[in-house]
Amino acid sequence: MEFFNIFNNEIAIDLGTANTLVYVRNKGVVINEPSIVAVHRRSNKLLAIGKEAKEMMGRTHDEIVTIRPLKDGVIADFEMTELMLQEFIRKVSPARFMGKRVVVGVPSGITMVEQRAVRDSAEHAGAKEVYLVAEPMAAAIGVGIDIGESRGNMIMDIGGGTAEIAVIALSGIVCDISIRIAGDELTRAIVQYFRIQHNLLLGDQTAEDIKITIGSAVPLPKELTMEIKGRDIVSGIPRTLMTDSAEVRKALNDPITKIIEGTKSTLERTPPELASDILDRGIVLTGGGALIKGLDERIKKETGLPVIVAEDPLTAVVRGVGRVLENLSMYEQVILKAKKY
Ligand code: ADP
Ligand code: MG
Repeated sequence: MEFFNIFNNEIAIDLGTANTLVYVRNKGVVINEPSIVAVHRRSNKLLAIGKEAKEMMGRTHDEIVTIRPLKDGVIADFEMTELMLQEFIRKVSPARFMGKRVVVGVPSGITMVEQRAVRDSAEHAGAKEVYLVAEPMAAAIGVGIDIGESRGNMIMDIGGGTAEIAVIALSGIVCDISIRIAGDELTRAIVQYFRIQHNLLLGDQTAEDIKITIGSAVPLPKELTMEIKGRDIVSGIPRTLMTDSAEVRKALNDPITKIIEGTKSTLERTPPELASDILDRGIVLTGGGALIKGLDERIKKETGLPVIVAEDPLTAVVRGVGRVLENLSMYEQVILKAKKY
């Protein structure tokens, strides 16, 4: 197996705030795991990564700490982001065979310092050539939009930590906005709601399950119910509660409204010619947040634009960076330029 990696040392990575996906040339997506590391608290020694680290979350003792290095922003923890990136690269391509090409999807709001950090860590992991592509651009390529044409396309990628909304035309981003309200914030809103309304403290994992199972942005034809478990804040004892999609929708309303306001403000800044293209073609939703039930309908109602949820929205970015890797010369224009100091 390892021997063949010598022919496959070209990889593309979606370094997401919630999930990291790795595409290997001629193979496709080989890794799809949470962007989480578990390290020894004092030595910072890596103990686990991805799914394995996620299972440790909320269950660690004093010696172990689980970290989502990109969680509260673009790169919240440089050192851990580097550790994670290197470990994922190592998983698909052992260090001695490494040395070629890595294409990484990065949030469009990334600073130069953060770009440098991503580049450096890929290089430390053995990459010789590192190419960065803005995530909304990668998502657009991944879902098959012809990004080179002069007509405008709007893409909205709702991930864990950030929602990125961009208008793309002629292989460039015409205007964009990156807001730090996305999937995690929806999960947090559920935790907060049940704490205040029901004196019930939910774990993050439970709140995320509730969001995914019954979370919605518009009334559902048949509202869904769910039994949830948490700890009573007053008595301190575990307790179960029946809830339904109408109640969870109330909890989600505030962050969903803010995400939609972001869309509106991007539309307001879009040049009129492109705005009219978007009026015809609509907004394409990608990222895990696109799967909130009825989010498309809600955005449609509030903006008056057609809204399309991309097929398999969670893999749009990695499919896009994969495509850039396979056709580098064709996508030269979408590669972010490194600034020399
Ligand atoms: P990132 O690119 O930031 O890593 P992703 O695009 O992988 O993020 O999306 C992760 C987010 O999507 C998480 O907040 C997760 O809870 C949410 N998510 C995943 N599946 C669903 C679903 N079916 N319904 C609602 N939210 C979902
Ligand atoms: Mg993403």
